[in-house]
Amino acid sequence: MKDPVIEPGSVLGVLGGGQLGAMFTLAARRLGYHVAVWDPDPEAPAHRIATYSFPFPFDDQHTIAQFTDLVRAVTYEWENVPAELCRALEQQRPVRPSSAVLRVIQDRLEQKGFLASNGFPVSSFAGLTVPDQLAMAVAQVGYPAICKTATAGYDGKGQWRILRESDVHEVERALSESARPGMRWIVESLIPFERELSILVVRGADGQSCTYPLAENEHEEGILRTSKVPAPGSSAVADRAAMLGRQVVHRLEGVGVFCLELFQLSGGSLLINEIAPRPHNSGHYTIDACTVSQFEQQVRAASSMPLGEVRLLSPAVMVNLIGEDAAVLMKGAGCRTLLDIPGAVLHLYGKSVIRPRRKMGHVTFLGESLSFALNHARQFRDGLAKGPAQPA
Ligand code: ATP
Ligand code: MG
Repeated sequence: MKDPVIEPGSVLGVLGGGQLGAMFTLAARRLGYHVAVWDPDPEAPAHRIATYSFPFPFDDQHTIAQFTDLVRAVTYEWENVPAELCRALEQQRPVRPSSAVLRVIQDRLEQKGFLASNGFPVSSFAGLTVPDQLAMAVAQVGYPAICKTATAGYDGKGQWRILRESDVHEVERALSESARPGMRWIVESLIPFERELSILVVRGADGQSCTYPLAENEHEEGILRTSKVPAPGSSAVADRAAMLGRQVVHRLEGVGVFCLELFQLSGGSLLINEIAPRPHNSGHYTIDACTVSQFEQQVRAASSMPLGEVRLLSPAVMVNLIGEDAAVLMKGAGCRTLLDIPGAVLHLYGKSVIRPRRKMGHVTFLGESLSFALNHARQFRDGLAKGPAQPA
């Protein structure tokens, strides 16, 4: 059955009210939709801009009934929302991407299995269900390796590097200490990549899809730090990434916004690190630098509206504000100094508590050329590293 187009004025539901849910909400409200935000944390940023706010646990039956009655379609801000909840909501409302897609993606073993069995390029990997299988799993993939929890990891959490045989014992102990019933882990070979890239793919309910320009990403301690767009280098790599993205999302039969995180190896070949079934941090630049942002595409896909034409209006460099960066920025003349930089666009997520490694905001640097934007981003990061700017 073809899903009906959901017109502005209707209510869209989003599970998760962090910065991604908030950016979805802003895009939806600009298009004239109402948004029901469901996030158990009453402090989650999207609650403040929601039309309807549900700060209740995801297993609250009363909220499930109320939320379902209210919304015409449902989406989510990240892959760790319960697939069971999505399945229940899906009985009555379109959920995009579907619970079946979510189920494949939210478990790293399922996801890598799906990719490998469909012939998509991934690192070699092995699964384990108890910590004492670690040595066997590492023997299958070889050294160096990386072990990750199969579910619920993000921003590099729940990951251990195993560079040599002597690391196995220590990592096994760490797994045992953090183990919960039913937990599984994946061991992957640690890829000596040349660089990290990501490609955003949007696919509508009618099967039409589009891709955004390739982004080059730098991580620090497992957390995204900067994205450069368009990724410098060969257009053949960008074309291959776009093709791979479309093929993966088509094979998944996914509807919505997806991001493939990629490793580029020396020689230019690509491996898929992981798929996100939602807008991605490396796509935040699309708000300021594209005709239609990744969040507006999420709205359009969820409501069966036509997808937006994707055009990059300006090269962009995105810098994440992580943990103490926000404190440095807010002290003294930090914000004034930043806003004085030509082409700098500041996004602060309104999180009241600063914690180490927490994403507090981001800055998009726009410029006539990528090197212009990069220089400004560098100047800003050097300033952050020096600490609070003195008041003028
Ligand atoms: P995020 O939420 O930032 O996407 P995550 O917790 O889902 O992170 P991954 O994307 O799997 O975890 O890993 C985070 C980072 O760790 C990667 O971007 C990459 O820099 C590094 N990494 C992960 N897996 C590998 C690997 N097999 N080989 C080399 N580096 C890796
Ligand atoms: Mg990742």
